[in-house]
Amino acid sequence: MSTKSNLVFGENYFPKNISGPQGRAIWLQENDRMKGKYLGACLDGIRWGGETTVMYEMGTRQMIGFIQEWMNQNKGSLLWHEKQPPKNFSLPYTDLKECPSDSSHERTVKDMGGRIRCAHQSIIELKPSFVDAYRTFDERAQAERISFIEETPIAPGGGPDEDEEDKQYDKDYKKYEKQLAKFENEDPVFIATDLCYAVLSDKGDILSLEEILNRLNLNRATYTVYCTKKGLTHDFHSYDIVRCKLGEWDNDMECLGHTVYTNNTVHDFDGWYLAWHVQRWHEQLPDGKAPVLGKRKSISTEGDLLDFIRAKEMLSKPKREIASTAVEA
Ligand SMILES: [Zn+2]
Repeated sequence: MSTKSNLVFGENYFPKNISGPQGRAIWLQENDRMKGKYLGACLDGIRWGGETTVMYEMGTRQMIGFIQEWMNQNKGSLLWHEKQPPKNFSLPYTDLKECPSDSSHERTVKDMGGRIRCAHQSIIELKPSFVDAYRTFDERAQAERISFIEETPIAPGGGPDEDEEDKQYDKDYKKYEKQLAKFENEDPVFIATDLCYAVLSDKGDILSLEEILNRLNLNRATYTVYCTKKGLTHDFHSYDIVRCKLGEWDNDMECLGHTVYTNNTVHDFDGWYLAWHVQRWHEQLPDGKAPVLGKRKSISTEGDLLDFIRAKEMLSKPKREIASTAVEA
């Protein structure tokens, strides 16, 4: 029964009181209003258009929700676009000629998922009493890693109270001098291997919808806010930040930052072209099994952390022994 013109929106599809892309996006998601419509038409109906770019008033997570709602309304008959994608159409894979971290890195390795990665390894030597470990997400490696940093003792801030004898400051300063002497005399016997592991190519990899949308977004998909003693650098709230505020974050410690998702998306192509990306994402695996959200892979094994803890425990033992243990591990 449906003709081609029924699959897109006529001029009068949206009621007059629904204005703006955001209002239309909400309206479409209600009462099966996207049923029997092309995804391209739906996406193109909820964007702002500029000369060279288009913008959606939704971040990646909200866009995923919109697409999932469209899929839900069109179960069993997913009409992506009037036409099939052009022959040279490709998902936004990473495909680099050299390591993005350092062009002098030469060796590469193919991982279990078929991605080509940088295999450059460097050995870092750190002073064990001053080493700390932290877990971060490495964008270039597209994985979590454990990093080790050496913290140089820092002099107490502010200076002594000038009017009277500042006993607390003197005490803090003496403590600092002691730490500094220890730092200068300690040998860097904590040894860790640092594997670059940056992704050079993930062609042929199964990309999640989240990853695809993030890569296509010309706006930054996320940015980082830092807690400071005065408050946050941005007035944003996320669970992480709330956790920070509840005191799980130590005030004396430097905040490592919290990821905040942006709430708009910018492309240099229209909603119809975006629909082709969603189509190709969906077709990566049969039966709608293509992943929606990206899994965070970890490149550092828990063994790294255990080595770190073991090395810390060894500190009470003679230095030579720490060295040999660390190298062996
Ligand atoms: Zn590298």
